[in-house]
Amino acid sequence: MTRRTNARSDLIGLQAELHAAQAAARLVEQRRAIIARYARLKPGGQPSFCGPTRAERDGTAWHDKGTDDKAIYPDLTSAEAAARELEALGARPMLAYPCRRSRHGHHDLATDEQRMYGRKPKP
Ligand SMILES: [Zn+2]
Repeated sequence: MTRRTNARSDLIGLQAELHAAQAAARLVEQRRAIIARYARLKPGGQPSFCGPTRAERDGTAWHDKGTDDKAIYPDLTSAEAAARELEALGARPMLAYPCRRSRHGHHDLATDEQRMYGRKPKP
């Protein structure tokens, strides 16, 4: 292979990497926009994420780590709308559920195992 051919194939490889990185960045931005549209937002405009309650932090209640860091949706309608839009971008099937941590009522999203694997949802 000549030096020129190597340079050309390097350039094609770099262009492919660049396009893949740009597509990944667009997907992240699209996901971020969906979450920002439907999630509960902090005063600064950032989405609120679910975190352990005081009792969970104290160790007086079981710490449900599966719920940590999920975006908080203020109601079922918002959570379901976000789920459908995220799925349209290629996310796995999602199910909106009322979070047990919530004192004032918020919803989180989880993988919809029934649609994904044909399993029955946990009681
Ligand atoms: Zn929650």
